Amino acid sequence: MLKKLFQSFRSPLRHSKQHPRSTPEVLSNRQHPLRRDENISRYAVSVVERLQNAGYQAYLVGGCVRDLLLGIKPKDFDVATSATPEQVRAEFRNARVIGRRFKLVHVHFGREIIEVATFRANHPQGEEDENSNLSARHESGRILRDNVYGSLEDDAQRRDFTINALYFDVTGERILDYARGMHDIRNRLIRLIGDPEQRYLEDPVRMLRAVRFAAKLDFDIEKHSAEPIARLAPMLRDIPAARLFDEVLKLFLTGYAERTFDLLLDYGLFAPLFPASAAALKHNPEYTERLIREALASTDDRIEQGKPVTPAFLFAALLWPALPARAAQLQARGMPPIPAIQEAAHELISEQCQRIAVPKRFTLPIREIWDMQERLPRRSGKRADLLLENPRFRAGYDFLLLRENAGDDTGGLGDWWTDYQDASDSERRRMIRDLSSSPAEGSAPRKRRRGGAKRRNRGEGATPPAAE
Ligand code: ATP
Ligand code: MG
Repeated sequence: MLKKLFQSFRSPLRHSKQHPRSTPEVLSNRQHPLRRDENISRYAVSVVERLQNAGYQAYLVGGCVRDLLLGIKPKDFDVATSATPEQVRAEFRNARVIGRRFKLVHVHFGREIIEVATFRANHPQGEEDENSNLSARHESGRILRDNVYGSLEDDAQRRDFTINALYFDVTGERILDYARGMHDIRNRLIRLIGDPEQRYLEDPVRMLRAVRFAAKLDFDIEKHSAEPIARLAPMLRDIPAARLFDEVLKLFLTGYAERTFDLLLDYGLFAPLFPASAAALKHNPEYTERLIREALASTDDRIEQGKPVTPAFLFAALLWPALPARAAQLQARGMPPIPAIQEAAHELISEQCQRIAVPKRFTLPIREIWDMQERLPRRSGKRADLLLENPRFRAGYDFLLLRENAGDDTGGLGDWWTDYQDASDSERRRMIRDLSSSPAEGSAPRKRRRGGAKRRNRGEGATPPAAE
């Protein structure tokens, strides 16, 4: 229905450039399919109306307008307004000003948050001051603070992509298009507004956003917007690690991870984000790619089925293939195998955190998932039942299956654990008894040293993936 309506709207006048115009193309509700009472959060509508009634300009903008036009349910609703953050806050009891690099107001309605941003202007390069509260720019051109307010026209110009610069006036049901966004929606193109290189230099994260939207919407990146990416990709190294963590979650935990991974590789954006994993892709391409791809595909499946996903499992999979090479290096310097694996795991995670600030609440479970890989083969006596009770069992078991699917030979361990979980008590006892006839399993528990203080601190150990 949406699609039909959208296809039938009249094509606007032709304009040759993607540069924003000072007068927008205005599309009435006969020319587009958006309706204020259909698929739009009533809270978003009420925020816009309230601001308009108070005498300010206010529009829905960004991802929600773009997604509605494409028949996708918006993730959230963003409002752009002429009111300053303080003026917005004064209009709503339930509003909070957030952010420093980019000040915004969050208006809370129960669990739903409507994000309200004041129109901003592109600050001319050279006029900023590193210590200014309003705007600041790094010598590379990167924007450090972006709080110079402007008109609606200015606001359209400083947005990233043409398809993200469509403004919907819920009152008049009109769409304002300053950057030929409708044209690019129709042609399924991600196109930066203005000069692509300059816009990436201002904010290198726009390269990740281009890839994210291309994967999510199944759009192409327009050729001039695509061209500088591989060249400028190393600039991602200068982005604060905390911001990159948020961006990486959006890349991999929103349902399009596998397609996103392909695009990140194509555009040279994967290596600056995950240097150790990129090295593993070079040294051991088949296993590494298969394991990462399996993990991303199963993440996408889970999201589609509405099941929970955790960043810990994702990062555990992305980094796992880098473990053996790192452990081998340490062993070559004389470290015994088990401590070498432990140390490799520790080093890998802390190096990755310098690039992407994975919070502790996720790095600990990464270690636990890895450590579980060494414990899952040791099943005799009461061990199997104890492992089953471990809160990390499920993640460890899923990770084992992932490794097997990627080509790790574990001697059928995954099947054994699948059967064990379904077995009755007596069958379980038999399965454990049968183990003692297998030499590998029978001797494993006795071989294992009882842990000293040092060992306990570092966890139980992790088995490296199949040798390269
Ligand atoms: P989604 O919410 O579906 O991920 P979105 O386009 O709404 O997509 P947000 O991060 O919510 O993305 O940003 C809202 C809008 O703000 C964008 O549509 C875009 O117009 C603008 N924007 C966000 N980040 C940038 C950026 N780095 N540079 C320029 N404009 C940006
Ligand atoms: Mg949004």
